Amino acid sequence: MTQKSNILIIGAGISGLSCLHFLKRKNPNVDVVLLEKNPHAGGTIRSRREDGFLFEHGPNGILAQPLTLEMFEQLGLSAHMIKASEAAKKRYVLKNGKLNPVPGHPKDFFQSNYLSAAEKCRAVCEMFVPKSFVPDETIYDFARRRFGTAVAEKLFDPMVKGIFGGDARRLHLRSVFSKVDRMEQQHGSVFRALMKGKKEKGAVPFKRTLVSFREGMQTVIDALVEKYSRHIRCGVEVQNISTGASGRSRFVIQTSSGLFEADHVILCAPAFAAAKLLQGYDSELSRLLGQIEYAPIVVTGMGFERPPTRFSAVGGADFTKRGRGGVPEAYGYLVASSEKSPVLGALFEDQIFEGRVSENRALLRVMLGGSDHPEIVRDSPETIQSIALNHLEKVLGLRQKPQKFFLKIWPQAIPQYTLEYADVIRKARGRLENHPGLNLLANYLGGVSFNDCVENASQLAERF
Ligand SMILES: Cc1cc2nc3c(=O)[nH]c(=O)nc-3n(C[C@H](O)[C@H](O)[C@H](O)COP(=O)(O)OP(=O)(O)OC[C@H]3O[C@@H](n4cnc5c(N)ncnc54)[C@H](O)[C@@H]3O)c2cc1C
Repeated sequence: MTQKSNILIIGAGISGLSCLHFLKRKNPNVDVVLLEKNPHAGGTIRSRREDGFLFEHGPNGILAQPLTLEMFEQLGLSAHMIKASEAAKKRYVLKNGKLNPVPGHPKDFFQSNYLSAAEKCRAVCEMFVPKSFVPDETIYDFARRRFGTAVAEKLFDPMVKGIFGGDARRLHLRSVFSKVDRMEQQHGSVFRALMKGKKEKGAVPFKRTLVSFREGMQTVIDALVEKYSRHIRCGVEVQNISTGASGRSRFVIQTSSGLFEADHVILCAPAFAAAKLLQGYDSELSRLLGQIEYAPIVVTGMGFERPPTRFSAVGGADFTKRGRGGVPEAYGYLVASSEKSPVLGALFEDQIFEGRVSENRALLRVMLGGSDHPEIVRDSPETIQSIALNHLEKVLGLRQKPQKFFLKIWPQAIPQYTLEYADVIRKARGRLENHPGLNLLANYLGGVSFNDCVENASQLAERF
């Protein structure tokens, strides 16, 4: 028998789940069903606690924005939220074989030794670089044009690797950092926009606090699933979307659990999955979505029962020369492309949020792969572990073997907003205009962060 609803959401990642939340907030009687192919909801977000270590498959925390905090409040989660430690404000970049502390705030910029005096001078001259409008500019080219080559290579390059597993020389500034682009367009300079305080709402990343939950980001997923369980069906894979017969619902949706009908479809699956579902409905839209590139990410977790020695942060730190090695008191580090390493970065999880490990233990999360090293997803778990451990030995001098090893491989983890992507999305949006009732909502549109997904979901729900 065909199951009917007014709205059908496909995919229970944070995009689909938060959209369901905002639809229900707007109209508690909304007729909506959410289908998820996996037996569990959450998509990229999943937290596992084993032997006292909490391992995150995806995000370990988020830089809370007002709308996200509001959603947490509505879900009754505010009291359970935890803030990152003071130590987590310190971050490093691995460049030239050394860990270099990076400025976390504009005022730290001048005290940092990571950039030479000449490089800082060039960066500050950003205020006097004339504004120009370059529609198809990469992040790297933008950073080099405005701040100089050193800032592009030492700060922007590792940051883009850390967020996207991507290459700053290929990603499109206006698609990725539209707020930064607007700072230049509206204020003539990024520094000036920051300093004058003429910031757009939420445009200054430094003021936001990194938050999570004691049992990890899974807490948010569990709360959403519990609250809306009547509407969510896990273990139902959508196989095909087609046009409904005249006089009936607009869409017929074929699934592993039979046929569904709906007047509105909100497709929250990744682009490559959405492309498959739309093949018979609009082959051109399907082809376009299929062109969106994803970077693979391999996430490893190393649980140590005897924590490595901790050192307070120092500039240009070489931890390999400190006896048994050690871990700086910090959030972690990102690896610059010039290191040619398959490692994207390492996070000192037990130092970021309380409760990640039971007392007197340590947990390091090493992320590998990205668009420069896609081959890593084909390696065996043993090879991946040894690459990660050799890296930790080389960088931190750690020779200890972890007692617990976690691994999560995402062959298609993060969509890459490349220069080509901008054109693909423009055309895809054009196709969508011919399909009333069909909505795309996922991290390949309008930002990859948790906050972006929530913000986009809220905006879409408002339109119903
Ligand atoms: C390793 C990693 C670390 C990250 N760290 C951070 C971070 O620190 N901070 C931050 O803000 N963001 C981070 N992100 C990004 C952020 O987590 C994601 O962009 C976001 O969670 C994506 O949510 P989504 O709902 O759009 O997609 P997804 O989470 O991919 O969800 C899509 C869902 O659709 C389902 N689906 C697919 N096909 C079908 C089908 N045919 N039928 C039914 N269901 C289907 C999938 O099973 C999945 O559950 C990270 C991402 C990764 C991979």
